Amino acid sequence: MMLFIGSHVSFKSDSGLLGSVEETLSYGANAFMFYTGAPQNTQRSAIDDLKTYEGLKLMQDNNMKLENVIVHAPYIINLANNTDITKWEFACNFLRQEINRCNTLGVKYMVLHPGSSVGLDRNYAIGNIIKGLNNVLIDDDKIVILLETMALKGTEIGSIDEIKTIIEGVNNKKNIGVCLDTCHLNDAGIDISNFDEFLDEFDKKIGIDKIKCVHVNDSKNEFGSHKDRHENLGFGTIGFDNLLSVIYNKRLEDIPKILETPYIDKEIPPYKFEIEMIKNKEFNKNLYSDAYKYYKGE
Ligand code: FE
Ligand code: FE
Ligand code: ZN
Repeated sequence: MMLFIGSHVSFKSDSGLLGSVEETLSYGANAFMFYTGAPQNTQRSAIDDLKTYEGLKLMQDNNMKLENVIVHAPYIINLANNTDITKWEFACNFLRQEINRCNTLGVKYMVLHPGSSVGLDRNYAIGNIIKGLNNVLIDDDKIVILLETMALKGTEIGSIDEIKTIIEGVNNKKNIGVCLDTCHLNDAGIDISNFDEFLDEFDKKIGIDKIKCVHVNDSKNEFGSHKDRHENLGFGTIGFDNLLSVIYNKRLEDIPKILETPYIDKEIPPYKFEIEMIKNKEFNKNLYSDAYKYYKGE
Protein backbone atom coordinates (compact mmCIF):
# COMPACT_ATOMS: atom_id res chain seq x y z
CA MET A 1 0.00 0.00 0.00
CA MET A 2 1.04 3.62 -0.57
CA LEU A 3 2.17 5.41 2.56
CA PHE A 4 2.04 9.18 2.96
CA ILE A 5 4.03 9.93 6.06
CA GLY A 6 5.79 12.97 7.45
CA SER A 7 6.09 15.27 10.40
CA HIS A 8 5.78 18.74 11.63
CA VAL A 9 8.63 20.76 10.03
CA SER A 10 9.81 24.37 10.35
CA PHE A 11 8.94 27.14 7.93
CA LYS A 12 11.45 29.96 8.22
CA SER A 13 11.16 33.40 6.67
CA ASP A 14 14.55 33.08 4.91
CA SER A 15 14.24 29.56 3.48
CA GLY A 16 10.43 29.43 3.17
CA LEU A 17 8.76 26.42 1.57
CA LEU A 18 12.08 25.22 0.11
CA GLY A 19 13.49 24.83 3.63
CA SER A 20 10.41 22.89 4.73
CA VAL A 21 10.68 20.49 1.80
CA GLU A 22 14.42 19.98 2.40
CA GLU A 23 13.77 19.18 6.05
CA THR A 24 11.01 16.75 5.02
CA LEU A 25 13.34 14.93 2.62
CA SER A 26 16.00 14.68 5.35
CA TYR A 27 13.53 12.61 7.38
CA GLY A 28 12.76 10.27 4.48
CA ALA A 29 9.22 11.66 4.45
CA ASN A 30 6.81 12.47 1.62
CA ALA A 31 4.30 14.60 3.58
CA PHE A 32 4.70 17.53 5.99
CA MET A 33 2.96 20.12 8.13
CA PHE A 34 4.10 23.56 9.27
CA TYR A 35 3.02 26.78 10.90
CA THR A 36 3.42 29.81 8.62
CA GLY A 37 5.01 31.60 11.61
CA ALA A 38 5.30 31.13 15.37
CA PRO A 39 2.24 29.14 16.55
CA GLN A 40 1.83 31.17 19.73
CA ASN A 41 1.68 34.60 18.08
CA THR A 42 0.24 36.33 15.06
CA GLN A 43 3.35 37.98 13.64
CA ARG A 44 3.84 36.80 10.09
CA SER A 45 6.52 37.79 7.59
CA ALA A 46 5.90 38.01 3.87
CA ILE A 47 6.14 34.76 1.94
CA ASP A 48 9.16 34.50 -0.36
CA ASP A 49 7.68 33.52 -3.75
CA LEU A 50 11.01 32.35 -5.12
CA LYS A 51 11.45 29.93 -2.18
CA THR A 52 7.87 28.74 -2.74
CA TYR A 53 8.63 28.10 -6.40
CA GLU A 54 11.86 26.26 -5.55
CA GLY A 55 10.08 24.25 -2.86
CA LEU A 56 7.32 23.20 -5.25
CA LYS A 57 9.94 22.25 -7.83
CA LEU A 58 11.82 20.11 -5.29
CA MET A 59 8.55 18.45 -4.31
CA GLN A 60 7.84 17.64 -7.94
CA ASP A 61 11.33 16.18 -8.41
CA ASN A 62 10.61 13.87 -5.48
CA ASN A 63 7.05 12.91 -6.45
CA MET A 64 5.53 14.72 -3.49
CA LYS A 65 1.91 15.80 -3.80
CA LEU A 66 0.47 19.11 -2.64
CA GLU A 67 -2.42 17.19 -1.04
CA ASN A 68 0.12 15.92 1.50
CA VAL A 69 1.15 19.39 2.62
CA ILE A 70 -0.71 20.75 5.64
CA VAL A 71 -0.65 24.15 7.30
CA HIS A 72 -1.52 24.30 10.99
CA ALA A 73 -3.31 27.47 12.06
CA PRO A 74 -1.79 29.08 15.17
CA TYR A 75 -3.39 27.72 18.32
CA ILE A 76 -4.07 31.18 19.72
CA ILE A 77 -6.95 31.61 17.26
CA ASN A 78 -10.10 31.04 19.31
CA LEU A 79 -13.33 31.38 17.38
CA ALA A 80 -15.33 29.92 20.28
CA ASN A 81 -15.15 32.85 22.65
CA ASN A 82 -16.52 36.26 21.66
CA THR A 83 -16.56 37.89 25.11
CA ASP A 84 -14.16 40.48 23.72
CA ILE A 85 -15.65 41.12 20.29
CA THR A 86 -12.54 42.96 19.03
CA LYS A 87 -10.43 39.92 19.84
CA TRP A 88 -12.92 37.59 18.15
CA GLU A 89 -12.93 39.72 15.00
CA PHE A 90 -9.15 39.78 15.06
CA ALA A 91 -9.17 35.96 15.18
CA CYS A 92 -11.53 35.84 12.17
CA ASN A 93 -9.34 38.27 10.24
CA PHE A 94 -6.22 36.38 11.11
CA LEU A 95 -7.75 33.11 9.95
CA ARG A 96 -8.71 34.79 6.66
CA GLN A 97 -5.10 35.96 6.18
CA GLU A 98 -3.90 32.47 6.98
CA ILE A 99 -6.15 31.08 4.23
CA ASN A 100 -4.68 33.66 1.85
CA ARG A 101 -1.18 32.54 2.81
CA CYS A 102 -2.20 28.93 2.06
CA ASN A 103 -3.43 30.07 -1.37
CA THR A 104 -0.11 31.81 -2.03
CA LEU A 105 1.73 28.60 -1.14
CA GLY A 106 -0.68 26.36 -3.05
CA VAL A 107 -1.60 24.51 0.15
CA LYS A 108 -5.06 22.97 0.22
CA TYR A 109 -5.48 21.82 3.82
CA MET A 110 -5.31 23.80 7.05
CA VAL A 111 -5.70 22.23 10.47
CA LEU A 112 -7.58 24.30 13.04
CA HIS A 113 -8.26 23.68 16.73
CA PRO A 114 -11.99 24.35 17.10
CA GLY A 115 -11.43 26.56 20.16
CA SER A 116 -12.16 26.85 23.88
CA SER A 117 -15.41 28.07 25.40
CA VAL A 118 -13.56 29.57 28.44
CA GLY A 119 -16.39 31.19 30.48
CA LEU A 120 -19.15 30.69 27.93
CA ASP A 121 -21.89 28.09 27.59
CA ARG A 122 -20.54 25.26 25.46
CA ASN A 123 -23.34 25.26 22.88
CA TYR A 124 -23.18 29.03 22.54
CA ALA A 125 -19.40 28.75 22.04
CA ILE A 126 -19.93 26.14 19.32
CA GLY A 127 -22.32 28.60 17.66
CA ASN A 128 -19.53 31.19 17.69
CA ILE A 129 -17.18 28.79 15.92
CA ILE A 130 -19.78 28.18 13.21
CA LYS A 131 -20.43 31.92 12.87
CA GLY A 132 -16.69 32.59 12.63
CA LEU A 133 -16.12 29.97 9.94
CA ASN A 134 -19.07 31.21 7.91
CA ASN A 135 -17.68 34.74 8.25
CA VAL A 136 -14.26 33.78 7.05
CA LEU A 137 -15.00 31.36 4.21
CA ILE A 138 -15.92 32.74 0.80
CA ASP A 139 -17.75 30.89 -1.96
CA ASP A 140 -14.87 30.19 -4.31
CA ASP A 141 -12.44 29.23 -1.55
CA LYS A 142 -10.42 26.11 -2.32
CA ILE A 143 -9.05 25.69 1.18
CA VAL A 144 -10.33 22.85 3.33
CA ILE A 145 -10.24 23.70 7.03
CA LEU A 146 -9.67 20.53 9.04
CA LEU A 147 -11.18 20.63 12.53
CA GLU A 148 -8.89 18.70 14.85
CA THR A 149 -10.25 16.19 17.35
CA MET A 150 -9.11 17.47 20.75
CA ALA A 151 -8.13 15.95 24.12
CA LEU A 152 -10.92 18.05 25.73
CA LYS A 153 -8.49 19.59 28.18
CA GLY A 154 -10.07 22.36 30.26
CA THR A 155 -12.83 23.99 28.23
CA GLU A 156 -11.54 22.77 24.86
CA ILE A 157 -14.15 22.02 22.20
CA GLY A 158 -13.53 19.22 19.73
CA SER A 159 -15.25 15.93 20.53
CA ILE A 160 -16.50 13.94 17.53
CA ASP A 161 -20.08 15.05 18.24
CA GLU A 162 -19.08 18.70 18.57
CA ILE A 163 -17.14 18.55 15.31
CA LYS A 164 -20.19 17.01 13.68
CA THR A 165 -22.32 19.94 14.92
CA ILE A 166 -19.82 22.48 13.60
CA ILE A 167 -19.65 20.83 10.18
CA GLU A 168 -23.45 20.80 10.00
CA GLY A 169 -23.48 24.55 10.68
CA VAL A 170 -20.89 25.51 8.09
CA ASN A 171 -22.48 26.65 4.83
CA ASN A 172 -19.66 25.77 2.45
CA LYS A 173 -19.37 22.03 3.13
CA LYS A 174 -16.61 21.56 0.56
CA ASN A 175 -14.37 23.78 2.70
CA ILE A 176 -14.61 21.80 5.91
CA GLY A 177 -13.09 18.48 7.01
CA VAL A 178 -11.54 16.69 9.95
CA CYS A 179 -8.05 15.96 11.25
CA LEU A 180 -7.79 13.02 13.65
CA ASP A 181 -5.12 13.17 16.35
CA THR A 182 -4.37 9.82 17.97
CA CYS A 183 -3.00 11.32 21.22
CA HIS A 184 -6.03 13.59 21.52
CA LEU A 185 -8.47 10.74 20.85
CA ASN A 186 -6.78 8.59 23.50
CA ASP A 187 -6.73 11.42 26.04
CA ALA A 188 -10.37 12.25 25.28
CA GLY A 189 -11.29 8.66 26.19
CA ILE A 190 -11.86 7.28 22.69
CA ASP A 191 -10.54 3.76 22.23
CA ILE A 192 -8.49 3.44 19.05
CA SER A 193 -7.11 -0.04 19.79
CA ASN A 194 -9.83 -1.34 17.48
CA PHE A 195 -9.41 1.35 14.86
CA ASP A 196 -11.83 -0.14 12.35
CA GLU A 197 -14.57 -0.05 14.94
CA PHE A 198 -13.75 3.61 15.59
CA LEU A 199 -13.88 4.34 11.85
CA ASP A 200 -17.28 2.63 11.55
CA GLU A 201 -18.62 4.88 14.31
CA PHE A 202 -17.03 7.94 12.73
CA ASP A 203 -18.44 7.04 9.34
CA LYS A 204 -21.96 6.84 10.73
CA LYS A 205 -21.64 10.23 12.43
CA ILE A 206 -19.60 12.37 10.03
CA GLY A 207 -18.34 10.26 7.13
CA ILE A 208 -14.83 8.90 6.62
CA ASP A 209 -14.46 10.98 3.45
CA LYS A 210 -14.22 14.09 5.68
CA ILE A 211 -10.93 12.87 7.20
CA LYS A 212 -8.09 14.54 5.28
CA CYS A 213 -5.20 14.28 7.74
CA VAL A 214 -4.17 12.15 10.72
CA HIS A 215 -1.81 13.33 13.45
CA VAL A 216 0.02 10.27 14.67
CA ASN A 217 1.30 10.71 18.22
CA ASP A 218 1.71 8.44 21.20
CA SER A 219 0.49 9.83 24.54
CA LYS A 220 2.33 10.48 27.80
CA ASN A 221 -0.91 10.11 29.72
CA GLU A 222 -3.42 7.40 30.33
CA PHE A 223 -6.64 6.82 28.42
CA GLY A 224 -9.25 9.52 29.17
CA SER A 225 -6.82 11.77 31.07
CA HIS A 226 -7.80 14.96 29.14
CA LYS A 227 -4.15 16.05 29.24
CA ASP A 228 -2.75 16.33 25.67
CA ARG A 229 0.95 15.60 26.00
CA HIS A 230 2.46 13.89 22.97
CA GLU A 231 5.00 11.07 23.23
CA ASN A 232 7.34 9.40 20.72
CA LEU A 233 5.84 6.41 18.93
CA GLY A 234 5.86 3.27 21.03
CA PHE A 235 7.05 5.08 24.18
CA GLY A 236 3.60 6.06 25.43
CA THR A 237 0.30 4.59 26.57
CA ILE A 238 -1.16 3.99 23.07
CA GLY A 239 1.68 1.77 21.96
CA PHE A 240 3.43 1.10 18.67
CA ASP A 241 1.13 -1.65 17.38
CA ASN A 242 -2.03 0.40 17.88
CA LEU A 243 -0.41 3.35 16.08
CA LEU A 244 0.71 1.09 13.22
CA SER A 245 -2.87 -0.13 12.80
CA VAL A 246 -3.93 3.51 12.34
CA ILE A 247 -1.09 4.35 9.95
CA TYR A 248 -1.63 1.27 7.79
CA ASN A 249 -5.42 1.25 7.85
CA LYS A 250 -6.58 0.64 4.26
CA ARG A 251 -9.52 3.01 4.60
CA LEU A 252 -7.19 5.95 5.23
CA GLU A 253 -4.56 4.91 2.70
CA ASP A 254 -4.60 8.17 0.70
CA ILE A 255 -4.50 10.44 3.74
CA PRO A 256 -1.23 11.98 5.00
CA LYS A 257 -0.08 10.85 8.47
CA ILE A 258 1.80 13.56 10.34
CA LEU A 259 4.00 13.07 13.42
CA GLU A 260 3.92 15.78 16.09
CA THR A 261 6.01 13.85 18.58
CA PRO A 262 8.44 15.66 20.89
CA TYR A 263 12.06 16.43 20.06
CA ILE A 264 14.57 14.42 22.08
CA ASP A 265 15.90 16.61 24.90
CA LYS A 266 14.15 19.50 23.12
CA GLU A 267 16.86 19.68 20.44
CA ILE A 268 17.04 16.50 18.37
CA PRO A 269 14.28 15.69 15.88
CA PRO A 270 13.10 12.07 16.23
CA TYR A 271 11.26 11.95 12.91
CA LYS A 272 13.83 10.29 10.64
CA PHE A 273 14.03 7.38 13.07
CA GLU A 274 10.33 7.20 13.86
CA ILE A 275 9.56 7.12 10.12
CA GLU A 276 12.10 4.31 9.73
CA MET A 277 10.30 2.38 12.49
CA ILE A 278 7.02 2.89 10.67
CA LYS A 279 8.40 1.75 7.32
CA ASN A 280 10.04 -1.31 8.96
CA LYS A 281 6.88 -1.92 11.02
CA GLU A 282 9.19 -2.62 13.92
CA PHE A 283 9.58 -0.73 17.18
CA ASN A 284 13.09 0.65 17.81
CA LYS A 285 13.76 0.88 21.52
CA ASN A 286 17.08 2.64 20.71
CA LEU A 287 15.33 5.57 19.03
CA TYR A 288 16.93 8.16 21.35
CA SER A 289 20.49 6.89 21.11
CA ASP A 290 20.22 6.34 17.34
CA ALA A 291 19.05 9.91 16.85
CA TYR A 292 21.79 11.25 19.15
CA LYS A 293 24.42 9.35 17.23
CA TYR A 294 23.11 10.57 13.88
CA TYR A 295 22.79 14.27 14.73
CA LYS A 296 25.55 14.64 17.32
CA GLY A 297 27.97 11.92 16.32
CA GLU A 298 28.02 10.46 19.80
FE1 FE B 1 -3.08 20.59 16.59
FE1 FE C 1 -2.42 17.40 16.53
ZN1 ZN D 1 -1.93 17.83 21.00
